Formats: sequence, C-alpha cells, structure tokens
Amino acid sequence: MIKSSKLAKISSSLPHQVLIKSLRRANRLLGQALIVNARNRQQVEEALKVTQTRLSQIVDTTSDALLVLKLDGAVCFANPAAESLFGRPHDQLLEHNLGIPQTTEKITEISIFQPDGTCLIAEMRVSEILWDDEIAVLASLRDITEHHQAKQQLQHQAFHDSLTQLPNRSLFLDRLEHALQRQRRYKQSSIVVLFLDIDHFKLINDSFGHLIGDKLLQAFATRLHSSLRESDTLARLGGDEFAILLEETSSSEEALKIAERVQKVLLQSFQVEGQELFVKISIGIALDAHEYAKPEQLLRDADTAMYRAKAMGRDRYVIFEPAMHQQVMGRLQKEKELRQAVEREELVVYYQPIVSLQSGTLKGFEALVRWQHPQHGLLLPGQFMPLAEEMGLIVTIDRWVLAEACAHLKQLQDQHPDLANLTVNVNLSSQHFSDTTLPDYITKTLETSGLDARNLKLELTETGLIENLKQAQDLLDKMCAMHVQLCLDDFGTGYSSLSYLHHFPVSCLKIDRSFVSHMQSGDGSWEIIRTIVALSKTLGLEIVAEGIETAHQWARLKQLGCDKGQGYFFCQPISAQAEFSRSFKVPPRLKATA
Ligand code: C2E
Ligand code: MG
Ligand code: MG
Repeated sequence: MIKSSKLAKISSSLPHQVLIKSLRRANRLLGQALIVNARNRQQVEEALKVTQTRLSQIVDTTSDALLVLKLDGAVCFANPAAESLFGRPHDQLLEHNLGIPQTTEKITEISIFQPDGTCLIAEMRVSEILWDDEIAVLASLRDITEHHQAKQQLQHQAFHDSLTQLPNRSLFLDRLEHALQRQRRYKQSSIVVLFLDIDHFKLINDSFGHLIGDKLLQAFATRLHSSLRESDTLARLGGDEFAILLEETSSSEEALKIAERVQKVLLQSFQVEGQELFVKISIGIALDAHEYAKPEQLLRDADTAMYRAKAMGRDRYVIFEPAMHQQVMGRLQKEKELRQAVEREELVVYYQPIVSLQSGTLKGFEALVRWQHPQHGLLLPGQFMPLAEEMGLIVTIDRWVLAEACAHLKQLQDQHPDLANLTVNVNLSSQHFSDTTLPDYITKTLETSGLDARNLKLELTETGLIENLKQAQDLLDKMCAMHVQLCLDDFGTGYSSLSYLHHFPVSCLKIDRSFVSHMQSGDGSWEIIRTIVALSKTLGLEIVAEGIETAHQWARLKQLGCDKGQGYFFCQPISAQAEFSRSFKVPPRLKATA
C-alpha cells in the first residue's frame, strides 16, 4: 500500500511513466493517477489542453450550480450557474462563506436566500474531491423551487378543504392524534372536540342554489375561525360538517362557553350575493379525552352527540355521554337486522279486508307489512318502518310488498273467478317520489303477476305529496295513465289542504282512524268526517273510513253515505295463508252477524 502523500515512480522501464499520488481520509483511499508517455510529452500536453477547454465549457454552460468548498466552508470555485442561483457575482461568491451545511448526506435540500430576499430551494449533491492537494467538497446544486412549490401545494391540497382552505378530516385527525399523545405524556392538558353541523343547510342549497350554499360555507368558516383562539383547530369535515379541536381547555365549563360563543357569533345574519341568510347549528361535544385511545373515537362521539342535538330539535349543543354510544350501537344492530330481514325474507304481508259499508260485501284488501323477527316475534310497521325510512330501505320494502300483494291477489282471483273485481291497496312511502323508475317497476310487476292495473290501488300520504309537489305530480300522472288508482291515506291528519286535491289525480280518500275512533267524543271529529264525506261526494271521490271498531261506528258512517270501511270490527289484518284458507266471500265478523 502506498503511503499518504507519497509520490512514487513505478516501473521506469515501461514506455509509460505512472505517477501516483495517493491520499487517505477517514480511512478511505482517495487517489489520483496521471499516466504519461514520456516519449510523446508534447502530444499529451496538447491533448490535455483540449480536454481542459472542453471541461471548462461544460462547467460554464451546465445549468447545475457547481461550487468547490473548502472544509471550513469557504468557496474556492463557482461556475456561472452558481452565480445566478445565489444571485451574486463570482467575486462575491468567492469572498463569502455561503453557509452551506457540512453534511455527510449525499443529497439534501437547502434554502438559498438571494440578496433581494428571494428564497430558492435547491437540491444539493456533495462529493469529496482533491483541490490544490487538499480535500474539498464539490457541491452540485439544482434549483427545485418550482417542483418544491408544486409538491407543497399538493400536500396542502391533500390536507385542506378546497372551498374554505380549512384543514380537512385527515389533518384534523392528525392534529387530534398529536394532542392525545401530548396529553398522555404530560397528563394535565385536556382536549375537547366540538362537532358542528349547520341546521337545514340542504334547504339553503335547494332554495338558493349551490353557489350561494358554497359562499355561505366560506363566510361561515371565516367567521367561525375568527372567533377561536390561535391554538384551536377548525376543520371542515365535508358538506356542512365542521369540527373544532380545543387544546389546553382548563374545564368543561370553558368548553361550553366556547360552544355558546360559537352559537353567538352566528346570531348575526350573513350577506351572500344580496341574500340575507341566518345560520343555526347543532353542536356535539366530546370531553374527557383521557378515555380515548384513537382520535377517530373522539370525533365519532362528538358526532353522536351532535346527532342527539339534532334529534332534540337542533340549534343547541349536547355533551356526549357513554349511554349514547350504546344507543347508537343498538340502532346499528337493528339496522343490520332489518337489512338481513329483507334478504332472508323475514318480512310478511298481512291483508286487511275493505268492505262496502252499504252492502257489507268484500271489496278488497289493504296490504300491511309485518316483520317475523326470529327473537321478538311478529313486529308491526310502527316498530321498524320509521327506521327503514331513515335507512332508505323503505323503497325496497315497498317494492317487495307491491310484488307480493299483486301476486297474492292474482292467485286468489284465479282460485275464485267471482272475485275478479277485488282490489289491493299498497302503501307507498314518499321516498318513491324521487324514484323515476317506479312506473316501470309497477308495469313489470303487473306483467309478472298477471294482475290488471285496475285492481291495484296505491296509498299515498298528503304530507308526502305536498312536500314533493313537483316530483309527485309527474309520477302520479304516469300512474294514472297506467290505470292504477290512487288513494290519499290518513286524510285529515296532514295538511288537509283541500286545494291540493285538484292537483292530484286521486280517486279515493281514506279518513284517518283517529276521527273514526273519536266520532262520539264531541271533539269535532264527527263534523270533520261529515265535511270530508260531503266534499268527496262533490268531487266524485270514493271515501273509505279506517279503524271501524264498533257496530255503532259502522252504522253512523253508513248513514252518512260513506262508501267503504276497514277495521277490527270487520276483520284484523291477517296473513295471506289465513285469507286463502277461507272462502273470502265475506269477512268473518259479517259472516257471524249475517
Ligand atoms: P295505514 O296505511 O293507515 O294502515 C292502517 C293501520 O291501521 C294498520 O296498522 C292497521 O292494522 C290499523 N288498523 C286497521 N283497523 C284498525 C282498527 O279497527 N283499530 C286499530 N286500532 N287499528 C286498526 P299497521 O298495520 O300497524 O300499519 C301502520 C302503518 O304503517 C300503516 O298505516 C301504513 O302507514 C304503514 N305501513 C304498513 N305497511 C306498509 C308498507 O308496506 N309500506 C309503507 N310504506 N307503509 C306501510
Ligand atoms: Mg294505508
Ligand atoms: Mg291510514
């Protein structure tokens, strides 16, 4: 091994002279060799000159900034690209210590401050070289400012909401995670999460359009943000949902004060595109973060409390309690069971006879769904349909009931040809009004079952119709064109706006059970029934009284000229099997009294 800094002449007998200068540093061997053909020295020198010119051309024109730095950081060489990168002429560069960090990493990113204050980001590669017989550092720098900015922008986009520029859910959860870690480490600081949801925001979007909705969200975010402390994080989780992370909140009272302050700053209206808009919010609060292992759990509980605030009438705040979680879990379980019930065909359709009040003969049935629950037995619609409605599952259930009812009635007609005029009433939730595929579905169902459209009646509620006026109108017109009949169910309990009756092609009104059962109580129910019957006669509508439980009720309704009725007095809703096993001529009660 050749010793450090020792010049050795090797093998002078060869046609070439080999000069080797070797050097060691940090146990690594750095070497430089020059091979010279002694017989042709001039030629070699010329060749070297050419090489040198070429090399300096490359160094002068490359877009990479090249610097040679002494180990103390002083610059001993700089190419033109370095001058422009640092914004300093060559002399200044050589005079200055640029403060380039001594780094052992091969590639690093550094910030360069030009004399005018501009900050550039450069990628720097370093390697050791020999310079004037000494170890030096060759730094090659490339301006990556644009790339860096694009990367930062992408990063910003990934963690911020584009509409309000607030942190998004990911960043919120990240900050919450860090806050929880700090809390675990220092034990004393407390964390509070507020989950905010604008009340009836959909209404604003629907009535004023998405543009105004978006601008309102921006104004809302700005106002909310200015009401918080620097250390608090406000994030937009999506839609009209926001969350606030309060750190170093000393007590739960303080958290509540903040919730009240947030509600207070929203008392003042927002001016958006010439519209004056008022915003109210429901807030869920999760306290006592010590219990939580994961940020998602804290946010989930604040969300649960927010839902409770909504259920309690909105425009308020509610603090999360563990019992709420149990309820949510219970509900989720019930949702799961209901979904499975549909798949496993645990639902059954019961039929309640509808009779002519004048003759007492059977005119048709109302199809009423039940759930044969494996543990809880037979459940009535009131025990699961509200949940099905919230889940959106009601549409599937109604379609299934419709298909069952059509098939059952057709089967019955086939067995008893004299029952060809019987009709079946099927209840339809107002969620169908936004479903444009319903007419096609009904057509197909009628085709499959072979039932005549005239034997099918659909029961709709007034409230559902009036709240979906435009969509309902189109749908009902289509049904009417198909010769399917339409009934207004529970008449008298909703808007009972007689003016709407003109709008819809309904052929039948069903008087709600509540009026029939209070007929004799003197609370005005009897007068209401009389008015409805008189009105429907004028409009040429058929009238069906619901919930007839006594012979007296039947007699009085019959006297009034009410067309049809249904109720426990005649027959309870019963399963298809039970119906089919009977002759069907008359409901059991009438048979007994006949
Ligand atoms: P509805 O359409 O007004 O049905 C009449 C309800 O009154 C039925 O309750 C029926 O069992 C009950 N009823 C009939 N006669 C009497 C009586 O004399 N006394 C008393 N106390 N009650 C009587 P059910 O079956 O519990 O259904 C309740 C509601 O659930 C129905 O009211 C209807 O709005 C809804 N529903 C039932 N099946 C379906 C369905 O398949 N789809 C949809 N969307 N809703 C349904
Ligand atoms: Mg009904
Ligand atoms: Mg009804």
